[in-house]
Amino acid sequence: MAGGTVTRFAPSPTGLLHLGHAYSALVAAEAGHMLLRIEDIDGDRCKPEFEAAIYDDLRWLGLDWPEPVMRQSDRLGIYANALDHLAGLGVTYPCSCTRGDIKAALSAPQEGAPIHGPDGLVYPGTCRGRRMASIQPGDVIRLDAERAFDLLGDNMLNFRDNGPHVLNRDAFLRGIGDVVLARKGMGTSYHLSVVVDDAAQAITLVTRGLDLFDSTWIHVLLQRLLDLQTPEYLHHRLIRDEAGKRLAKRDDARSLRELRGQGASPADIRTLVGL
Ligand code: GLU
Repeated sequence: MAGGTVTRFAPSPTGLLHLGHAYSALVAAEAGHMLLRIEDIDGDRCKPEFEAAIYDDLRWLGLDWPEPVMRQSDRLGIYANALDHLAGLGVTYPCSCTRGDIKAALSAPQEGAPIHGPDGLVYPGTCRGRRMASIQPGDVIRLDAERAFDLLGDNMLNFRDNGPHVLNRDAFLRGIGDVVLARKGMGTSYHLSVVVDDAAQAITLVTRGLDLFDSTWIHVLLQRLLDLQTPEYLHHRLIRDEAGKRLAKRDDARSLRELRGQGASPADIRTLVGL
């Protein structure tokens, strides 16, 4: 373990852990002192039985972590404060667009081919410029990325992941854009919560799958706006099935539960994920 390195494993209890989660947790535990965080802001999809299964499966794998475990559902007030701070900076706006509205706006003749960012279609900016005071029930809150860069007075974002990575303002605006910071009925989002919590847990090395690499630019921008330190990152390879498809929670056949039931040992799991 690297001295002084603090890592985290941050599963969402929306299903059983599969081999991809096992790999992610083992990478976090090998890279540093691993903290556990339960990312359960999505009250509709998160289930207590999946949270219980996370603890059980990780212990079975031989992992250990300090208590108490951070649970995002306990921290909604903290995310609300962070959102208020961003609103105070003038870099947020409410948005009532449905997915259909966004698609329709992007199919207008003057728009080029729609671009997919880390969160789906890059938002065309229909509600940009709306004042926070105009918020209506059911609105989401978006980041005004252009204003955010204006405020930073810097056109470059950077982080380290086995060396330096850089993204400029134009690439962010074109390829990522005005992402949602507070989802409907949640008051926060994955992006906002993860940034606030990685800082609160003093994580020095964020280990997670390569599928989240592009989201890291959103996190770096939010860290800059919230005056939080940017940790180092390690985006690891993804575990795929025989067809080369990334494993998902619905692939129950690859759940640790199922493999355990078939007699697999923790050592077998390491072998299966190539460790
Ligand atoms: N909760 C996220 C997931 O289960 C992980 C987020 C992260 O590691 O930043 O995919």
